[in-house]
Formats: sequence, C-alpha cells, structure tokens
Amino acid sequence: MIRQDFPILTTKIHGKPLIYLDNAATMQMPAQVQNRMWRFYEEENANIHRGVHSLSEKSTVLYESVREIGRQFLQGRSEDAMIFTSGATDAINQVAQMLEGFLAPGDEIITTQMEHHANFIPWYELCKRMGLKLRLLKVDSKGQLDLNHLETLVNERTRLVAFTELSNVTGIETPVREIIDIVRSRSDAYILLDGAQGVVHCLKKLSEVDCDFYCFSGHKLGAPTGTGILYIKEAVFKTLRPVRFGGGTVTKVSSDGVLFVDGPAAFEPGTPNYAGIIGLGEALSYWSHAVDEVDSLERPLLGRLEQGFAQMEGVRILGETGHRKGSLSIVIDQVHPYDFCKFMDLYGIAARSGHLCAMPYLNALHTDYAIRFSVAPYNTPEEIDIVLEQSRKIIQTLRRAGK
Ligand code: PMP
Repeated sequence: MIRQDFPILTTKIHGKPLIYLDNAATMQMPAQVQNRMWRFYEEENANIHRGVHSLSEKSTVLYESVREIGRQFLQGRSEDAMIFTSGATDAINQVAQMLEGFLAPGDEIITTQMEHHANFIPWYELCKRMGLKLRLLKVDSKGQLDLNHLETLVNERTRLVAFTELSNVTGIETPVREIIDIVRSRSDAYILLDGAQGVVHCLKKLSEVDCDFYCFSGHKLGAPTGTGILYIKEAVFKTLRPVRFGGGTVTKVSSDGVLFVDGPAAFEPGTPNYAGIIGLGEALSYWSHAVDEVDSLERPLLGRLEQGFAQMEGVRILGETGHRKGSLSIVIDQVHPYDFCKFMDLYGIAARSGHLCAMPYLNALHTDYAIRFSVAPYNTPEEIDIVLEQSRKIIQTLRRAGK
C-alpha cells in the first residue's frame, strides 16, 4: 500500500486529516527517501569529488550512481548526458544560456501557450537579449496544442522548440512524438521537452523520444527540493560549453587557460547538492518499482473529480481530454479561487489557487485564475468524495455571502 510510505499523510490540519491535492506543486516524500537522507547525514556525509578519504569516496560513488538510476528511470540512451541541476527552472535557464552561441538575430524560438512560466520567460528573455523572434504555438478550444498551427510556425529559421510533456493546469498530455516529427521534418531546431509534470505521470522511453533536452525537478516525485536532472542528447552535449564556472570542473587552470574535464562534471561547478541528489536517486528507485501503477491509481481519482465537478452548476472544468493526468483545474461562477481554497484549507484540504504560473494558458482558457487539484498515487477515492462534498458546501456559502 503506497499510502503508508508517506508519513505526512497522517498529519491533521485545523483538526482534520490532511487531504493533500497539491501534488503538482510538490509531491510528498516517502519515508524511504527521508530515511535515506537521515542515514546519509548520520553515516556517510562528505564532500564529493575532492577527498581521498573513505567518506568522500563513498559519497562520490553514491552521487555518481544516481546518473545511472536516472538513466534507467527515464529509459534513456547510455551515451546521452545527465547533468544534475537544482530543478526544471534551473535546467531551462541553463539551456537558454548554453544555446546563446548557436543563435543569431532573426532566428526564431517556438514555445507554447500551454507552458509553465519556467518554460516561457527564459525564452522571452533570450529573444529580447539577442534580437530573436519568439513565436507562440496556440492551443485550440479544448486547451490542446494546435498542431496545424505548429505546421505553419516551424521553418528553417526555427532554432529551438520548447514544450511541456504534460500541462500543470489541465493535466493534458501533449503529443510529444507528433510534435517532434513535425519539427524534425521542417527544421533542424533543437527540441526541449519540459518533463516537470510528465516525469511521474507519463510513462516514457527517452531512448525512443528524439528530443535534445529533457528536464525535471526532483521534488515533483518526492525527492528533496533543489534537485533535478537535465538529460542531453550526446551529439548536442558534445558541442555545449558550461555556463557556470568553478571548482570540480577542470583538469588545468592557469592565467593562460582553463581545461575542462570531459563529461557532466564540467557542468556542475562548486559543491553541488550532493545529499539531495542521493535522495533523488532513492526517490527514483522508489517510483521505478511503482511506475506502472501510477496511471491506474490516479486515473479513477481524476475521473471521479471530473464527474463530480461536471455535475455542479456554474463550475467550469478547464480543458478537454479523454485521459487527464496529474491535474484538474476549475473555475467557479461568483467564487474567487482564493476564498475557495482558504475555505478548503479549513477542512484540511490542500488545493492550489491562482494563476498557476501559466498566465498565457489560463488566458487562452478565458480566465485569469483557477483552482487546481492535483493527485498522486497515494490519494484515495474517499478523499475525492470529501473534496466534492465540501466543494458543494463552500460554493453555496460563498455564493450566499456574495449576494
Ligand atoms: N514546468 C512545469 C510544467 C511545472 O509544473 C513546473 C513546476 N510547477 C516547472 C516547470 C518548474 O519547476 P521548478 O519550480 O521545480 O523548477
């Protein structure tokens, strides 16, 4: 039973059992990862890649082993590179900087209306800085990426296409392979896939996905915060230069020049969050045993939520898809998301309100704010029923109060 592995789920909020439905923001940490971190600090802690003493060597081996764990989890190619980052935002910003040398004014970058701001602002800023053109792939009336529009956007000036694997708002999965086929048939643009949401909810085999960059954050699957992986295709990785500099990245330094080591270490200067990365390895191992179950556990929960909200008057579910994953968002007539979520909290329910760091997407879905419920495999149908029941009551109360 997965739920028993998550100690925080026995917490009470305002005297009520916690119902945690803000998993798209951060997933809770299993006891296995907590224990691993505790054991690491109690028995194994030492800086990596530096000392020759036993603890340093052990911690180096543990840190380095997470690359292979990550590769297996993502089912990536053995020759491709894995750089540890502090998360998806960090990874995307690094890629934006790494690609500067390959871009020239007039080049075009495509991102989409569906993106989290983390996969929008770095490209907006890069375009502004370098005189590039930012082109935005639209979503259709269902909130899905419009592939006909994509066909008109991609051309020989397109240098990068950055898009999400799964929406953090609607739970709509993007047609990754179709998008990549369209891009590859019309340009030699780089392709970046934002896996921040998809990493745990979408089964994948990165070895069969022809993207150049794939990134995710550890905390979205129960790993410590400040951890993440940037996966880079070998042929692209070989051409890249690091954009951050410092200790642990070089074989030779003098006033005449600097010689970087080969491989990912050149891209991880200074003391990295090695303890966090070892925790990330534990979280990836934890989910690798349950990865096939994630969808079968989550799907009925989201289906139940969707069915319940669809029956409530004045509640609009954002986006349409036959198979939602991870998140479901709503807007409610005459009810402000902030008030709704504050009331939910009184019943122990953690849901998210606001612009969800996806303003272009919410605007395309004709709203400024939304309420999001996001599930994990440890949530239960009983929790969903409580959420639906409390929602009915809160909506009534707030509408009455607004009269
Ligand atoms: N992309 C998506 C789709 C996300 O949902 C998030 C986090 N909400 C991010 C990127 C950024 O992740 P982080 O804040 O962990 O860097």
